[in-house]
Amino acid sequence: MKIPLAKPEILESDIAAVVEVLRSPYLSQGPIMHAFEEALAAYLGSPHAVVVNSGTSALQLALRTLGIKEGDEVILPSFSFMAVTNAVLNEKAIPVFVDISPNTFNIDPAKLATALSAKTKAIIVVHCFGYPAQMGEIIGFASRHALSVIEDACEAIGTEINGRKAGTLGDIGIFAFYPNKQMTTGEGGALVTNSAMTAEALRRLRNQGRQSSPGWFQHIEVGYSYRLSEINCALGLQQLFRIEQVLSRREALARSYEERLTGNGNLTLYAKQSKDDRISWFTYPVLLAENFHQRDRDRIWASLKQTGIECGRYFPPAHLQPVMRNVAFRCGDLSETVSIAGRLLCLPFFNSLDENQIEYVCAALSEALSHRTSPDNLAHATS
Ligand SMILES: *Cc1c(COP(=O)(O)O)cnc(C)c1O
Repeated sequence: MKIPLAKPEILESDIAAVVEVLRSPYLSQGPIMHAFEEALAAYLGSPHAVVVNSGTSALQLALRTLGIKEGDEVILPSFSFMAVTNAVLNEKAIPVFVDISPNTFNIDPAKLATALSAKTKAIIVVHCFGYPAQMGEIIGFASRHALSVIEDACEAIGTEINGRKAGTLGDIGIFAFYPNKQMTTGEGGALVTNSAMTAEALRRLRNQGRQSSPGWFQHIEVGYSYRLSEINCALGLQQLFRIEQVLSRREALARSYEERLTGNGNLTLYAKQSKDDRISWFTYPVLLAENFHQRDRDRIWASLKQTGIECGRYFPPAHLQPVMRNVAFRCGDLSETVSIAGRLLCLPFFNSLDENQIEYVCAALSEALSHRTSPDNLAHATS
């Protein structure tokens, strides 16, 4: 049996919608982009949504419109996809990494104060794996210190915190639609904001700094070419129409994993922090017990791969990446980040995953874990 880590779901109706665009006169900046933006804003409960060509572009434009400049410090987790750090570095700002909480895998609000300096301008909160970050505490801290809050909800479309959608609680929320996300446009991203002025600035920046005016081109600042084509938007609109069914399906898959894996003493599963939270399942992470080392995790990963099961080793900490030797950044104690990054395994997770496959993955995982009594044993079992 071959089971991938992630797989996009493309229905015939998605294909038909894309083909319809190809037969129309509008391949970019047409009616479907507006429809997608409106549907996204309505779904998330935000007055403005602006779509762009990737989640990373969205992060960059968020930093730009919030006025983050060279030498400014931005607080962010090291335990995340490198896009977050790259966006900060591309703006010549200084990443300041803060450790995560082992309960949420998200930035630990209690550690924010240690990262603060006179140069701190913003916090990028990542809702890692669709798990809600502690927004109440984080926003409280940010407002006490006059910091902007960018919510990276790229892995968390549909996640809810006290009944509000992730991405709508900070100054700007970011989404991404790469094929491994809960919904895809192939490549693509979006920003949401409550501010009409910010939304207008974002629309300008994605299109060469051009002011929207009925008259002649008015380029009032240096902008980018970050538009999202009608082809991508048509796919996104179809995917968004069924996002609630998709999230229910993924919730059921997560329950199914949970039922099978609960009680395995070698594993910790995610526990919801509040009954008012709702998780949008991006993947299914399991945390190996503290007596497992990174090399044990990597051997388990390799042995599952050999049986046809593709797992994810998310996330190699950003502050340990080779590129960081050549750039300026700050960080305090990141021991939770390093410990968790070395013990996490993300199990195959996609809409069409079935019970047989889940059973197969769980059996293979239990088997691999049980061989771990000594590293020699494990090496033998996986060779
Ligand atoms: C996917 C993702 C992004 C953006 O990725 P793109 O490939 O640029 O669309 C940003 N942050 C996080 C946490 C992500 O998972």
